[in-house]
Formats: sequence, C-alpha cells, structure tokens
Amino acid sequence: MTTTILTGTFLLGLVLAIYSVLRRQANDSEDHLSGIANNVPALIAYVNAQQHYEYVNDLYKKYFAPCMKDIRGHSVQQVLGQDRYATVSQQIESALKGQLQHYDWMPFPDTWLAIQYVPRLGNRDEVIGYYVVGSDISERKRTEDQIQELNAELERRIRLQESVSRALTTLSAGNRALLRATDEQSLLDSMCQAIVKVGGYAMAIVCYTNDDKDKTLRTMAECGHSAGMEALRAIKNSWADNEYGRGPMARAIRTEKVCVIQNLHADPNYSAWRSDMADYAAGIAFPLKVQGETIGGIGIYASQPDAFGPDEEKLLTELAEDLAYGLTSLRERIEKEKIENAMHLLTSYDALTGLPNSSYFTELLNGAIHSCHAKGQSFALIQTNIERLSEINDALGFHQGDCLLREFAERLRSAAANSAMVARLRGDEFAVLIPECDESAAILMGQQLQQAFSGRFLIADIPLELSARIGIALYPQHGTNPHDLYRNVDIAVHQAKKRGIGLCVCSPPKARDQSRRLTLAGELRRAIDEGDLRIYLQPKIHMASGLVRGAEALVRWKHAKYGIIPPGEFIDLAEHTGLIKPLTDWVIEAVLGIAQDWNERGCALPIAVNISARNLHDEDFENRLHKLLSVKDVPVGLLEMEVTESVIMEDAEFSLRVLHGLRNQGIPLYIDDFGTGYSSLSYLQKMPVDYLKIDQSFVRNITTSKESSLIVRSTIELAHDIGLKVVAEGVETQEHWDLLAQFKCDYSQGYFVARPMPVEEFQDWVRLWDARRN
Ligand code: C2E
Ligand code: CA
Ligand code: CA
Repeated sequence: MTTTILTGTFLLGLVLAIYSVLRRQANDSEDHLSGIANNVPALIAYVNAQQHYEYVNDLYKKYFAPCMKDIRGHSVQQVLGQDRYATVSQQIESALKGQLQHYDWMPFPDTWLAIQYVPRLGNRDEVIGYYVVGSDISERKRTEDQIQELNAELERRIRLQESVSRALTTLSAGNRALLRATDEQSLLDSMCQAIVKVGGYAMAIVCYTNDDKDKTLRTMAECGHSAGMEALRAIKNSWADNEYGRGPMARAIRTEKVCVIQNLHADPNYSAWRSDMADYAAGIAFPLKVQGETIGGIGIYASQPDAFGPDEEKLLTELAEDLAYGLTSLRERIEKEKIENAMHLLTSYDALTGLPNSSYFTELLNGAIHSCHAKGQSFALIQTNIERLSEINDALGFHQGDCLLREFAERLRSAAANSAMVARLRGDEFAVLIPECDESAAILMGQQLQQAFSGRFLIADIPLELSARIGIALYPQHGTNPHDLYRNVDIAVHQAKKRGIGLCVCSPPKARDQSRRLTLAGELRRAIDEGDLRIYLQPKIHMASGLVRGAEALVRWKHAKYGIIPPGEFIDLAEHTGLIKPLTDWVIEAVLGIAQDWNERGCALPIAVNISARNLHDEDFENRLHKLLSVKDVPVGLLEMEVTESVIMEDAEFSLRVLHGLRNQGIPLYIDDFGTGYSSLSYLQKMPVDYLKIDQSFVRNITTSKESSLIVRSTIELAHDIGLKVVAEGVETQEHWDLLAQFKCDYSQGYFVARPMPVEEFQDWVRLWDARRN
C-alpha cells in the first residue's frame, strides 16, 4: 500500500511538471511530453472550470472512452456517463473550489482507481481547472480484500478457539464440581460458579419445572447475575408455550433439546425479559434429564452476541449432560440410602422386641473390638438364655411366648446400664455389651440382670417364674474377635447350666490344653486309620422291667502318650477338621461288627451311635451307610442313631428330610440332649423319631430344683402324648431313679446304672446285672 501511495505522489509530481511545461513550451515539446505522459502507468487528464476535458492521456481514454476518437472538449459528465458522474460530482465540485481531492473509486466492476484532483490556479489565484491523476489499484484492492478476509477468518477461528477452550475449561471445572458434590443444592451452586468463575461466561442459571397450572419455573441456582438470585426469581417465566415460555431455557425444557439464541437483543421472542436481562447478548440452554424425566434446564449467557460456536455448543451440551448425570446419581444415592436405612431397620432389628438382632449386634461388637483395641480398653459380653421357653410356647401358645419375650427384653433393657447395648440374638438368647467393663463389674451387672428376671412375669394373667442362665466373656481375655467371644460366652452359659448355677464367667482353656489340642488335631487322622479309637458302651435300662434295653456307643481315643482321651476333647476337633466323616464311619462299622457278633451269639441288643451335624449335611452319608449295612449281616433295628436337638432345630426342614432317609433304612432315632435346643414339641411331632433323651442338666437337678423336676415331668408327659419314648440321661442316684420312675420315664442311662465301659466288659456286665436282678 505504501508503494502505491509513493507511486501516486511521484506521478502527481510528474504530471504537474509536464503540465507546467506544456503550458509554456512550443508544440514539439508538447508532443514530446505528451509522449511521456502516455507512457507512464497512470491515467492523466486536465479538466477546465467548465468541466470539459482539455487533455487526457491514452490510458485515461482507454479506461473511460475507449470508443471515442478524441475526448478533448467533451464534458466530464458526457465522458463518464450519468451514473459514474453522480458518484464523483461532489469531489469535482470541491476540486473546482480549490480543494485537493483524493479518493479510491470503483468506476467499473473489479476495477479500482486511486484518484487525485489537483486544482489549478490562474494568475489571480482563481481555480481555472483541475488535474486528474489516477492509478489502477485493482490488484492492491484485491489483495487488501483477501487480507481482510483472511484476517476475519483468523479472528473467527481465534474466537472459536477461545470459546472452545472456555467451554473445555468449564467442562473440567464442572466435572470437579460433580466429583465434590454431596448434595443437590451444592452441586447446582458449584456448577453455576464453575461456568461463570472458571469458564468466564457472563451468567449461569439452573431452573427446575414446577408442576403447577402455569407451568412456572423455579430458579434453583445462579452465578453472575449482578442483581442476584432474588431478582432472577422475580422475573416471570414459564416452561409453557406462552409469551413467558419463549426464552432459551423454556424452549430447551419443552423440546428436550439444546436451544441457542445468538442475539438476544434482536430476538423478538426475548422481548419479555430484555430489560431484566439487558447484560446478556447471547444465551444457550440445555434440558436437564434426570432419571428419564426432564426436571428443568441450565442456561448459560454471554455478554457478546454470536458467542456460542458449534464446538462450544457440543462441549457445553456435554457439561449439561454431566450435570444431569450428577443429579441422577445423587438422587439415586439418596434413594439407595433411604432404602438402605429402611433395610437396616428391617434387617438389623428384631421385629418382636425392637432390639438389635444378631447380625447388627455383631457389627456393634466388631465396632467395640475396634475401638477398644485402639484405646487399650476392655469390655464385657453377657449372654443370657431364657430357660424352657419352648415349654411356655407349647403350654400357652406362641402369642403368650412373644409377650414374655417382650417383657423379658424390656426388663433386660432397663436393668442394663445406659451405655450398654442390648440385643436379641435368636429365640430365647439375648446379649448385652458393656463398654469399659472388667470382670467384677460384669459380674455385678450379671447379678443385676438376674435380679430383674427374678420377679414374676404376668402372662395372660398367669404369674410365671422364669429362669435365665447368664454367661460372661471379657474382651480381650476371652477372645479378640466376635467368633471367639460368642463361642466363649456360649460355653459360659452352658457351664452355668451344667453346674446348675445362674451365672458363670468364661474360663478360657489353659495354654497347656491349647497345645495339647493342636497335637491331637494333628494326630487324629492317623488315630482313626490305625485303630487307636475304642468303642465304650453305656447301657440303657428299661425302668419298668429293669431289663437292659440297649447301649450307647461312646467313642474313646487310646492315646500312646495321654492314655484314654474322652470324646469331649476330640469330637469338636474332628468336626472342625472334616475328620468327623471317617470317624463316624469308623464308629458305625465298629458298632455293626459288635452287633453282628452279638447277634451270632444270640444276645443281640440295639446300639446307638452319635451323629454330628456334619454327618447329616454330608450328601454321601446315606449311601455309605447303605453300603455298610448291606455288607454286615445285622438285623434291622440293632443300629440306632442319636442326633442332638440343637442340630435338628438348626435347619428343621432339612433335618426332616435326612431323618426320614435314615428311618427308611430301618434305623431307630433319638433326639439327644433334649432341652438344650429350644425346640417346640409341636415341631418335634413331625420328626420321624422314636426316642427323646432328656439332657442330663435337667435330670441332675430333679431332686433339688422344683423347676427341673417340673420340666422333666412335663417333658415326659408331652413326649408320651406325641408317641415318643423317653430316656433320661445322667441318672446318678437312687433318688433320680425313683423320681423318674414316678414320672413314668421309659428308660434310664447314667452312672447310677453303669459308666460307659469297653466292649469286652459290657457282656459280663449285662450278665452280672441280670443276675443281680434275679
Ligand atoms: P452324649 O451323647 O450326651 O453322651 C452322654 C455323655 O454323658 C457321655 O459322655 C457319658 O459318658 C456321659 N454320662 C453318662 N451317664 C452319666 C452320668 O450319670 N453322669 C454324668 N455326669 N455323665 C454321664 P462322653 O462319653 O464323655 O461323651 C461326651 C459326648 O461326646 C457325648 O455326649 C456325645 O455327644 C459325644 N460323643 C461320644 N461319642 C461320639 C461319637 O462316636 N460320635 C459323635 N459324633 N459324638 C460322640
Ligand atoms: Ca448321645
Ligand atoms: Ca446326651
């Protein structure tokens, strides 16, 4: 451009020089200079005050009058033509008034000329004409236009780039807001803030739809509006298709699509809000779809028109979708929490007493272990079992049993310390966790609880006396995990029961015993395989006739180092190590051998084998039993089985199936340790069993405790009612025997008759017993 101007200036000087000469010189010089003027790349003309050409060079003529022979003497208007003349007449007039004129002119399409009019003064300084100097700048103009176009494109791209990076920044700030949000309002607030403060947009707003008749919108959050949230709320708007529903937000909600208005000031749809929203020139809004429903929209406003490019729109759409996703997951989380809370109530509390149930109590126990471990504190776990609840259920009905349980729970709760946690573990088993408690405090608490249970319970107007055994285990002495604590507290309860006392603190196995247990666990397999086990037999006597009815097989381990080891020391080891299967198989095979031998010798007696829970759950058990029975030649009924009540009641439906299977193989069945498993007689009625063995803990006390004798007596009566024979175990004295005889107990087993003895001694013993009777 600079060069064109310079060329122009140079030409002008040249033209002026030529003319001053032309005016003064003779004709030959005029021809000479005219030749020069025709050879410079410029349009040159001289026009007099009457606007008639006096001189034009060849180029001028070529541009404006290519068909005319000579244009000298013709008027400017004539040569240029009406239209072109009209565009320059103003400048001509100014030139003739003596003003230098300089302008770019496009007389023909695609042709640009840079024109100068230089007024020429006469002798008295009056304007007598003007010189015209023009140069063709079409090329320059074209380049300039191109550059301008390129610049515009560049600017557009930069703007686009900026808007995209602005949207990207907003998107990532929005995502951070999403990650941090814990509730819906703070998510909306921080999203609006991210859009304005990080993204640099003028304003952001979130509205939710109201389900009212006018379909109004409620402003939930905003950022950037100088008049604030209240002002936004005061603006009338709606998501209905009416005059207040034409803004980008309402349209986005209605159509469920993004709505962008690039020039709000020019958009007639936006007239309703123009005064309140004057700061914003462009707006974009997105629907917020949450859980399949459009709940509102988010609007983003910019202060410049045409602010939202297509790429930016895409990114902001993503932002809106992210927000909707965030809202969805927050709402789902809240719903889930609600459900979880309801579930927690359902699954963590016992419906009858309202106390925490065993799974929730285990959680509490775990928590106590955790915090006591950290603080180095101790706590006490108390378990208390209501005795003979099943009796009460049977006698008075379940409804009354439930009333009793509720009353018991209430007494337990009010007697326990405030800081204690009380729970119902199952059936008639309750637990109390006492934080920061040592042994003596726990015993004191246990006695307090006993006191609370000692008063009569009035159930259906019947005053009932209840007894409950209490076991105490301490953390960390008796266990550092729930499993060990539960086990030990349960052992304590059973010890209390066994010893016939109300309360018992767990006495953990001594370290020496522990190491012995480990040794035994390692050696048991070999003991089974190599025949170190022995069968001991204990007789069962038919009380009415005094005849030996049969025997119970009680296993012993003849250990090289420890001598005869009682089953109490290794049966649970066998149960925990899976060795109970080969052990029971061994016992059954041995018993079948004995039965076959006796049978051949003509002195057959039934022998009962004890069966563990694991045997019942062993799918192959029946098959193996069947094989063993078919190998040995033993009449049906000589092999009997005893299953403890608690094992049967653990899964009554399952037990029913398995017991039927055993019964079908001709095996008479006993319910062992009756009274410790809390079954109801109505349930037992369905079981395919023949005998009921009353647990020795009741028999032991029948002569001293009214309650025990009552229990034993009513158990015998009820068992007879449902067609079962009763065996009393643990019969140790004449008094026991006499009382049981009075209660019409069918069979007796116990030290009073005989201790369990090796098989070889048993037949001599039977002979002696019979001889003594006669
Ligand atoms: P259980 O089935 O209740 O067996 C009765 C237990 O009471 C036997 O203890 C027996 O010796 C004992 N006993 C019998 N009469 C009296 C008495 O008058 N007073 C007292 N205080 N106790 C008496 P044992 O032989 O030590 O067996 C303990 C437990 O071991 C048995 O209890 C039974 O559950 C289990 N057991 C024994 N042999 C086997 C077996 O072969 N398989 C399985 N699975 N368990 C067995
Ligand atoms: Ca038994
Ligand atoms: Ca027993």
